[in-house]
Amino acid sequence: MTMNQQLNSLKEFQLVRLTGDIHPWGVRRHAVHRRGSLGQVGQRQRPSKDSVESVSALTQMIRLPITIEIRAGALNDLSSILASQGLSTSGNIGVVVSPGSGKAIAQRLAPVLPNARWHTVTDCTLDSAVQLAEQMRSGRYDVVVGIGGGKIVDTAKYAAAQIGLPLVAVPTNLAHDGICSPVSILDSDAGRSSYSVPIPIIVIVDLDVIRQSPSRFVAAGIGDTVSNISAIADWDLSHQETKEPLNRLSITMAHTAAQSLLHHPGTLQDDGLLTILAESLVVSGIAMNIAGSSRPCSGGCHEISHALDILFPGRNALHGEQVGIGAAFATYLRGDSEMAGRIAECLSRHSLPITAAEIGFSDEEFAQAVLFAPQTRPGRYTILEHLDLSLDTIRDAYADYVKAASSVNKNHVELVKI
Ligand SMILES: [Zn+2]
Repeated sequence: MTMNQQLNSLKEFQLVRLTGDIHPWGVRRHAVHRRGSLGQVGQRQRPSKDSVESVSALTQMIRLPITIEIRAGALNDLSSILASQGLSTSGNIGVVVSPGSGKAIAQRLAPVLPNARWHTVTDCTLDSAVQLAEQMRSGRYDVVVGIGGGKIVDTAKYAAAQIGLPLVAVPTNLAHDGICSPVSILDSDAGRSSYSVPIPIIVIVDLDVIRQSPSRFVAAGIGDTVSNISAIADWDLSHQETKEPLNRLSITMAHTAAQSLLHHPGTLQDDGLLTILAESLVVSGIAMNIAGSSRPCSGGCHEISHALDILFPGRNALHGEQVGIGAAFATYLRGDSEMAGRIAECLSRHSLPITAAEIGFSDEEFAQAVLFAPQTRPGRYTILEHLDLSLDTIRDAYADYVKAASSVNKNHVELVKI
């Protein structure tokens, strides 16, 4: 059974968990963050031991997608997928697209979706999402379909939740694990905020569409998924040091997603690898939904990436590229040189960066980001908070990491601790 089939069978498993910050068809705003990126789910109060034990399993529910479609040409079957799943037999749907690539998709699909109304959004601001919701409120749609990159899907997620409609996500690239996450990240005057929204009811990944996106926006998804390994190690460390509760189901899913890619021999030109990547991104999103936070997919690796975003605005690379480097370095700091080597080798195999210099940051800038990283996510305990390194120590550790990373190639799978 493929992961795709396993996911489809999961719809039978309707154990839905109401954590208090994820509402089935509503929106809950989290604390405002300085700046952030995907995976930065709003800060939550760590549940006490008592509160965890007081929640009966019978009252917990986890909302899952009812199906996922990952294959070439899947988008052409949008109408029949919605009808077969009982979401829309009339085709009365609101479709959200970008003005660029979305326009071409709209022109291609319009003849087979005669009852659809097309909405164009140009940014991922809260204002745009609210405006979109108002536009769609009068449409009497059966469902909202978001076709585009992360910004379009996030805006559509929020608007759909505002008007109480399910959201079908159709990502046009695979750059990060937000395609099936219960989070919408939007900008406003207060900065970038994350909002809890329902996870998409269906995810459609058309491999023909994905192949048309820049390869960098596909490879980055590998970095984001592989970073789960470091995030899970951080969660486990926190459990040991602070007694933070673990969710083993969430960990299993996030870990399986990462491992599927870590050792996959394929290239981004192969449908096989693209399918595994899309599946892994969906599974990562579900793992976050089960955990009720980004914990299984976001640790010190993401703190480092958030710090680069905050300290060097406008110079940041893709989220998946930054968290990939963060994951390899955090794993190196953790003393697991073998796993650090495997992560670096995987990144390198897909032409992803493994050092800060490859994405335009000096060693000193990267060290400054690592020092600042714990401040980006107060309350999250990772290897960075655990070691509480000084700037000098970070400089030395990163210099050692870079020396070790320079030896990484397809035949070398261990970053020897210097
Ligand atoms: Zn991420």
